[in-house]
Amino acid sequence: MTHHDPECIFCKIVRGDLPGNIVYHDEQVTAFHDINPIAPVHVLIVPNKHIPSVDGVEPADEPLVGHMFTVARQVAQTLGLSRGYRLIVNTGDHAGQVVFHLHMHLLGGRALGPMLAR
Ligand code: AMP
Ligand code: ZN
Repeated sequence: MTHHDPECIFCKIVRGDLPGNIVYHDEQVTAFHDINPIAPVHVLIVPNKHIPSVDGVEPADEPLVGHMFTVARQVAQTLGLSRGYRLIVNTGDHAGQVVFHLHMHLLGGRALGPMLAR
């Protein structure tokens, strides 16, 4: 993978330079358990190429971004989330994004409550 940022922790996990508890990997995306889970299942699904956030997504990335959803569904199924799950993509400062490598949170394994914190 050539499109990586050597300083980025998620690029390091994708490339195997930093340990990650990986649950799924293919040529486009990688999924691994969040290091600080807020639900019984808390997985992050990331593109293998470095895109900082949704703000960096381009039309050419549409197949990749669509694939992230297919992988989310597969991982949810594999991890037994038959009662449902939530996908979250924080984008930018006001959303509390702290890692600037695009990622989708997959949350499940308990009733998650109201969708939005006020
Ligand atoms: P966000 O606020 O959407 O940027 O969330 C970043 C997420 O990355 C947080 O839930 C962190 O717990 C998680 N995280 C940070 N470093 C690691 C890591 N090395 N391995 C797995 N998850 C991580
Ligand atoms: Zn990265």
